[in-house]
Amino acid sequence: MIMLSRFELYQIFSTPDYGKRFSSEITHKDVVQQNNTLIEEMLYLIIMLVGERFSPGVGQVNATDEIKREIIHQLSIKPMAHSELVKSLPEDENKETGMESVIEAVAHFKKPGLTGRGMYELKPECAKEFNLYFYHFSRAEQSKAEEAQRKLKRQNREDTALPPPVLPPFCPLFASLVNILQSDVMLCIMRTVLQWAVEHNGYAWSESMLQRVLHLIGMALQEEKQHLDNVTEEHVVTFTFTQKISKPGEAPNNSPSILAMLETLQSAPYLDVHKDMIRWILKTFNAIKKIRESSSTSPVAETEGTIMEESSRDKDKAERKRKAEIARLRREKIMAQMSEMQRHFIDENKELFQQTLELDASTSAVLENSPMVSDTALTALGPAQTQVPEQRQFVTCILCQEEQEVKAESKAMVLAAFVQRSTVLSKNRSKFIQDPEKYDPLFMHPDLSCGTHTGSCGHIMHAHCWQRYFDSVQAKEQRRQQRLRLHTSYDVENGEFLCPLCECLSNTVIPLLLPPRNIFNSRLNISDQPKLTQWIRTISQQIKALQVLRKEESTPNTASSKNSENMDELQLPEGFRPDFHPKNPYSESIKEMLTTFGTATYKVGLKVHPNEEDPRVPIMCWGSCAYTIQSIERILSDEDKPLFGPLPCRLDDCLRSLTRFAAAHWTVASLSVVQGHFCKLFASLVPDDNHGDLPCILDIDMFHLLVGLVLAFPALQCQDFSGISLGTGDLHIFHLVTMAHIIQILLTSCTEENGMDQENPAGEEELAVLALFKTLQQHTGSALKETPSGWHLWRNVRNGIMPFLKCSALFFHYLNGVPSPPEIQVSGTSHFEHLCNYLSLPNNLICLFQENNEITELLIESWCHNIEVKRYLEGERDAISYPRESNKLIDLPEDYSSLINQASNFSCPKSGGDKSRAPTLCLVCGTLLCSQSYCCQTELEGEDVGACTAHTYSCGSGVGIFLRVRECQVLFLAGKTKGCFYSPPYLDDYGETDQGLRRGNPLHLCKERFKKIQKLWHQHSITEEIGHAQEANQTLVGIDWQHL
Ligand SMILES: [Zn+2]
Ligand SMILES: [Zn+2]
Ligand SMILES: [Zn+2]
Ligand SMILES: [Zn+2]
Repeated sequence: MIMLSRFELYQIFSTPDYGKRFSSEITHKDVVQQNNTLIEEMLYLIIMLVGERFSPGVGQVNATDEIKREIIHQLSIKPMAHSELVKSLPEDENKETGMESVIEAVAHFKKPGLTGRGMYELKPECAKEFNLYFYHFSRAEQSKAEEAQRKLKRQNREDTALPPPVLPPFCPLFASLVNILQSDVMLCIMRTVLQWAVEHNGYAWSESMLQRVLHLIGMALQEEKQHLDNVTEEHVVTFTFTQKISKPGEAPNNSPSILAMLETLQSAPYLDVHKDMIRWILKTFNAIKKIRESSSTSPVAETEGTIMEESSRDKDKAERKRKAEIARLRREKIMAQMSEMQRHFIDENKELFQQTLELDASTSAVLENSPMVSDTALTALGPAQTQVPEQRQFVTCILCQEEQEVKAESKAMVLAAFVQRSTVLSKNRSKFIQDPEKYDPLFMHPDLSCGTHTGSCGHIMHAHCWQRYFDSVQAKEQRRQQRLRLHTSYDVENGEFLCPLCECLSNTVIPLLLPPRNIFNSRLNISDQPKLTQWIRTISQQIKALQVLRKEESTPNTASSKNSENMDELQLPEGFRPDFHPKNPYSESIKEMLTTFGTATYKVGLKVHPNEEDPRVPIMCWGSCAYTIQSIERILSDEDKPLFGPLPCRLDDCLRSLTRFAAAHWTVASLSVVQGHFCKLFASLVPDDNHGDLPCILDIDMFHLLVGLVLAFPALQCQDFSGISLGTGDLHIFHLVTMAHIIQILLTSCTEENGMDQENPAGEEELAVLALFKTLQQHTGSALKETPSGWHLWRNVRNGIMPFLKCSALFFHYLNGVPSPPEIQVSGTSHFEHLCNYLSLPNNLICLFQENNEITELLIESWCHNIEVKRYLEGERDAISYPRESNKLIDLPEDYSSLINQASNFSCPKSGGDKSRAPTLCLVCGTLLCSQSYCCQTELEGEDVGACTAHTYSCGSGVGIFLRVRECQVLFLAGKTKGCFYSPPYLDDYGETDQGLRRGNPLHLCKERFKKIQKLWHQHSITEEIGHAQEANQTLVGIDWQHL
């Protein structure tokens, strides 16, 4: 009563007609609203008064129960990480939550995946302790928790009612509080509210009011049940709520009993949400009644409980059906709405992405409809190459959605691509391009110190659609910069843009092409093809002829008469027509794109101003193709994946277009320039008089050499009408380079493991390799150490050459479009034989030397008599040995504290002994740097940069991966303007990172996460990762990364 008047509600509940009255007097809406709120508040207070017993002294609980309850309710909202949970719990005076001691009892710990955090999930058996009116819940939390709990119950196919939990009994002092629930006043309130709900007139009641009343009824029932359960014989249960609610109201208004009203309400269509709860109440009521009957302490008013329940069940069924129908209609309506919204959205954003709905499906679905090649041995190259029926390839532009066939004479289709310099495969980080203007990239050193990597998200556009898109991005960017002076995650001036579909950072496009060899090779194949020796002779002659011609052209006073005289003097090899210039088979738009991508590769790879005329452009294209294939081969091998296993679409598309592009690029370059490159590359293996200062075979990466030779060869072959086919050339080039590589391996493989020789009668390969090694010894004099066993040598050759064979298989596969043999598509054995077959090599590789012994002696001699080789054999210099091992990020200690110790002992290298403020560890090479500090700023290209940025230029050619030790934060840097923070590979016992080291739990290395970072690095995805992070979080764009 006091409470009623405190809430100024007495009036309302003492006037039975209140509800009716107000429904007719619409004018008093505000008053009603206010009253409703007051009633709700009052009911809430009662729930609190009676229900909150979880403080020691109030209820029969201890502190542990209290904290348990807190945790249960926090986890009822959603699973939480340790740190979140700690934050949401009340702290005691010692800033302790006491959570550790009880968490195990109420929650499961779910281990973190690669990105997430460890999560605590509520144990299902604790769900019944959930109280919707938990007093630490805010409104929002309450509704979130309610939703979550209902969803959970639905998933478990349980009743979705959220009844009040069974509460611990009060301490004696407060025990009588429960009687509030069965007081006449309370019952009257309940009755009244229910009455309003039954009458269902607009304003007088609210859903949450009803929900609270139901909750209170539920509490009362729980209470009574508990009393009954604990009753002892002599005690009379004084809590008789059930009896009271079964009684009809008193005389004047003859209202039905609370129970009856509940039954009415159960079938009320407008109370769907509360139906579960009402059903639960009725059920509990019946249960209590049964208990009472069996103990027969007091008679309970007869109610037709069971019958009622049954009838209600029938109703329920119909109800459910109706509900399903409603749900279906609603779903349909929502779908319609959504597609409508989508249409609007697209209309509004037409400029940028028209109908971006179609996803990757467009990219490569058409490509691999594998041609019906008979499943006999497949051969990727050479005159015996498996002939693949011409496949038509259709692709869809992501910008205009038009489909188009990829053909040499049609409009160009392009793939968004990102070209970057890379040191991921580098075996010598101290080496970098000193003077890009003078740097000659023709020969790649086997240390692979600086390569050019091309990646792609695999999204295809028309060249002209891309052009238009790029122009609009550019224009928009200019406007924006004038207005806001903001940075973006991409640098438009450097040609960067985001893929219009997936927002992947890109800086150029690759044209899509069919296997280019089919176009150049249309001339008839004459069956009688030269052997390697003869072929080398022919090519040498052709080269010589070209060189004479070139010399004449460059001599200033070339009287035409004299010229022709010389021509006569020079015996042109048969069928060789150096005056012939082939017609470019490609459409203007494809040619333009060939130039575009070539120039971009050159510009990025060498970091120079674009110049499409530069003779190094084609070299850079071939180099990028070779380097990208090598890096992918490394990733596959490191992960033990099969070479031709299911490659992600984007990689597959990227490699294919990149290889074919590189093979077609010569058609837009100057013929004589490409011929010049070929001659020089060729001379590195077959020496001639004109090229003196070429690197020795120890200093050439053979795969780069192979790609360069094969892709430059058509420029020479196109003038050759003697009938030597392109395929023959490819095969001989490949065999020649393979032989050089074998010698390279034999020269550099360490021969110390003599102890484990197998002296069994050696196999064919072993004898052969031993013989070859003896030849080598002859040519190198005594310099080569004593003879190891044939078994040992053969093993070295096999292991050393594998990466080269794998790269070559990828290369020729994409170049010629011959499907890969099914054996290599699965992992397992090393596939050495399968690779040899596919590549048209004898399984005993040494046969290459034996078959061509006329020329091999000469070649080996010329290779070995090089000064550098001698110096190496005499131990005066180093050389790379094979197989090259994959680069890894540095080893990190398992315990983070040892890193902290290491860093705290680290002092700034420049300011004599001062402690560094932000010690930062390069994860690529392990150098500790003094970051984010003026003392260690240096000048780079005319700008002040911090130690990290400066370091990336030498260590990672612009890309860096660091660990900021004091912050326990991984830092990615790319160029001067790009950077982001990444989650560190250190986790605490709860599976969470601690960026900023604020929580201070012991941290341990998470190997999986560290591997993931390493994988990003191997895949050349650091820059892309930064791009995505910056797009997602614009504040990252504003940071001055270069000062770190
Ligand atoms: Zn288009
Ligand atoms: Zn994309
Ligand atoms: Zn480094
Ligand atoms: Zn410093």
